[in-house]
Amino acid sequence: MRRITLPRMGYSYIGFRAVFDALGHEFVEPPPITKRTIDLGVKYAPEFACFPFKITLGSLIEALSTGKVDTIITAGGIGPCRYGFYGVMYEKILKEELGFDFDFILLDPPIKPYGNMKKVWDIVLKWKGELSWREFILRLTKGFKLAWRKLKKVEDLEALILKKRAWVKDISKVEDLFNEAIRKINLSMDLDEVDAIYKEAKDSIEAIPDDRGDVLKVGIVGEIYTILEPFSNLNTERLLNERGVEIERSVWTTEFIEYNVFPGLPFPLKQMVGWKGKDDIVKYSKPFLNEFVGGHGRESVAHTVMFKERGFDGVVHILPFSCMPEVVARGILERVGRELDFPILSLSFDEFTGEAGLITRIEAFIDLLRMRRRMAA
Ligand code: SF4
Repeated sequence: MRRITLPRMGYSYIGFRAVFDALGHEFVEPPPITKRTIDLGVKYAPEFACFPFKITLGSLIEALSTGKVDTIITAGGIGPCRYGFYGVMYEKILKEELGFDFDFILLDPPIKPYGNMKKVWDIVLKWKGELSWREFILRLTKGFKLAWRKLKKVEDLEALILKKRAWVKDISKVEDLFNEAIRKINLSMDLDEVDAIYKEAKDSIEAIPDDRGDVLKVGIVGEIYTILEPFSNLNTERLLNERGVEIERSVWTTEFIEYNVFPGLPFPLKQMVGWKGKDDIVKYSKPFLNEFVGGHGRESVAHTVMFKERGFDGVVHILPFSCMPEVVARGILERVGRELDFPILSLSFDEFTGEAGLITRIEAFIDLLRMRRRMAA
C-alpha cells in the first residue's frame, strides 16, 4: 500500500482520492493552501517560476513534511508553456535540495520524446501493487467512475454557489451548506450516496430566499490553476459575489480532463466517453486568435466571445503574473473588448498581489458595468 499525495488545486483532490481509496492505497489529502504554503514555494522555487508552480511546490513541501507521504503523483505536459517543466523541477528541488525521500510518478503523455508505453506500464504496476489483475481492473473501474461522478457533482455545486451568493446578503448560509456537502462527498464511496448528498445540498441552497436585486452577470476566463484555487486569486470570485455579481466559470477540472486526456484515447474509447472535440473553441477564437498558444490562452479568447454573445455584462480574466499563454490572450482580449464593445478586466496574481488594490479594481469594474446597464436601460 502506498501513501500518495498530489499538489492541491481547488477540489480536484476529491477525484484522485476516490481512485486511490478504491485501489486500497492511502490518499494523504494535501493541506489547504495558506500564506505559509506560498511562502514555502516562493522560498524554494526559482524566482521566475510560474506562480502556480510556487504554490504547488509549497503544497508538496507541506504534505511531505507530515512524514505520512511516500509517493507523489502529478501530471506532465508537452508545452508550449512551462507546465512541462513542473514535474522535473518538483523532483529536483524536493529530492536534491530538500532531501525528501519519496517515489515520484509523473503522468507524461505516452508519446515520444516525453513518455512512452513502457513508462505507462511501470505506473500501472505501481498502482496495481499486490492486487490480482482482475481485482485491480474492477477496483480501478469503480474508482474512476466514482471520481468522475464526484468531480462533476462538486463542480455543479460550485457553479451553483457562484451564482447564488450574488443574490443573498448573508452568504454564510450558502457556504455552510456547500462546505458540508463537499465534506460528505469527499468521504463517500458510493455513487448513489454522492447523488443524494448533491441533491439535498442543491435543493437546500436553491431554497434560500433571494434578498438582493440588480445582480450583474460576469464570466471568468483565464489560467486553470489560478481560477480553480481560490487562495491563489485572493478569492476574487467571492469578492465579486459579495458585491452582487453572479459568476460563470469557463474552466473546470473535468473540462480540462475532457480536452486533454480524451483526445489521446484510442478509437472507440473516445467515442464511448462522448468526446465532443474543440470545434467551438476554434470557431469562436478564430477571428482574433488562430493558433494554439498553450494553456488556456485560446479558450480565454473563445469563451470571452461566447460570454458576449450570451449577453453577459463583462468578463474577468484571471492569470498568474508572467503566464505565457494568458499574457498572449490578454493582448488579444484588449482587441476583443474594443471591437465587441465588451468590458474585460484582466487581473494578474503573484506572491506580491495585495487585497486592497484588488478590491479597488474590482469595485471600479463593477461601477462601470452598472453604469453601462443604466445607460442601456
Ligand atoms: S499556463 Fe501559465 S502559469 Fe501555467 S505553466 Fe503555463 S506559463 Fe505557467
